[in-house]
Amino acid sequence: MRDFDFKPRPHRARRFPGLRHLPVLAVVLSGITGVTLLMSGQDNAEAIPNSASAVANLEEVPLSVPAASDAETTPAPENATAQTATEAPSSAAEPPPDWRQVTIRSGDTLAKLFSQQGLDAKTMYQVLNAGDAAKSLLRIFPGEEIGFLIDDAGQLQALRYAVDESVTLHVERQGDGFETKLVANPLERRIAHAHGTIDSNLFTAGKAAGLSDGLIMELANIFAWDVDFALDIRPGDRFTVIYEELYRNGEKVRNGGIVAAEFVNQGRTYRAVAYAEDGGKPQFYTPEGKSMRKAFLRTPVDFRRISSNFNPSRLHPILGVKRPHMGVDYAAAPGTPIRAAGSGKVVHVGWKGGYGRTVILQHGTRYSTLYAHMSRFANGLKAGDKVQQGQIIGYVGSSGLASGPHLHYEFRVDGVHRNPLTVTFPDAEPISKKLLADFLEKTGPLVAQLDMISRSQVAQSE
Ligand SMILES: [Zn+2]
Repeated sequence: MRDFDFKPRPHRARRFPGLRHLPVLAVVLSGITGVTLLMSGQDNAEAIPNSASAVANLEEVPLSVPAASDAETTPAPENATAQTATEAPSSAAEPPPDWRQVTIRSGDTLAKLFSQQGLDAKTMYQVLNAGDAAKSLLRIFPGEEIGFLIDDAGQLQALRYAVDESVTLHVERQGDGFETKLVANPLERRIAHAHGTIDSNLFTAGKAAGLSDGLIMELANIFAWDVDFALDIRPGDRFTVIYEELYRNGEKVRNGGIVAAEFVNQGRTYRAVAYAEDGGKPQFYTPEGKSMRKAFLRTPVDFRRISSNFNPSRLHPILGVKRPHMGVDYAAAPGTPIRAAGSGKVVHVGWKGGYGRTVILQHGTRYSTLYAHMSRFANGLKAGDKVQQGQIIGYVGSSGLASGPHLHYEFRVDGVHRNPLTVTFPDAEPISKKLLADFLEKTGPLVAQLDMISRSQVAQSE
């Protein structure tokens, strides 16, 4: 079905009843400009000790969550398991005073650093050839540190380099050569929780409860399919968040991800727990194991307004003839990222008549989605690629027959166009049957913790 997007087109600012999922970013940003900060001090985030039960269920669950593009939610190192979490800090702690600790600056090379320490090129090559572990020295970055231990004769005796935040390279002199090894110094994971009651918006209440922007964003993302944080929020709504904090040598390095959360919206309680299937990224599920997500995003782009609605019997504004509009037009700035509404396979990337630059995705056997008028495609995207829900597939433009920059978006079920704003989406996959017992065992303690925090919160407010 061709799409003709001639101007002028009526720009109605109506709100469509089916449009529940405004972009979360907009919600949070609007929260930033909120003026009320009415939370009481008692709702501050507090770290609670690493109890045995809390640690046990975290052991197998890589618990940082990829929801927000925030540094705080970068995946935690996989070797930072519960066992190592309780060990004493290893030898990558502060080097002894006779070490020379050098901070790498922009433009520094390994050769330059060695030379500055009075070490010759031969020594550098000996170190680099001492083992695979030493190859990490070929990828040094400004801001990182290298420790040198040099004896009175000017000979390099040892070297230390933090490969990443949980692994350190140790180089030691061994006769005429060097020996290398990688020493794990995993971050210690502690569980913290925060709870709060909303007076005006989630962002304000989240900040008052001691949550970072990243954690507030993640909380909103977890419940985004159930709660519209722009329209559904009422004073008295409340939330509980259990999340990780990552420590080294007793000092907090950064927040980890949310591991469980509860949101009470207009008296209705929603709960989510994180669980990773077989080493995959953690996803959020209800305590019963249903996915918190739907198989499709309601809107695949952060839009400014809906510039043309789904209308199978539209009369074209200029031509005066029946010219159905089989999708939804989202007006957005050129270059705004367009995301795959659901996980699936790319079946078309390229120019498609009046659609201009167009991507078509197939989702299982029944569903397909189409994204038209792009300015460009995501780098390297090609037919046959698998895409994940939320993955960027292209950018808003006005290629083809488009009056201005917008995304023309179509949603088909069994080959039939449906209104993407109102069609009922299938649930995303629940926990598979073979993993359900494992899921319940691992997440049960989190649910118990939510119960406990929630009870004490209600008791405090009474
Ligand atoms: Zn259109």
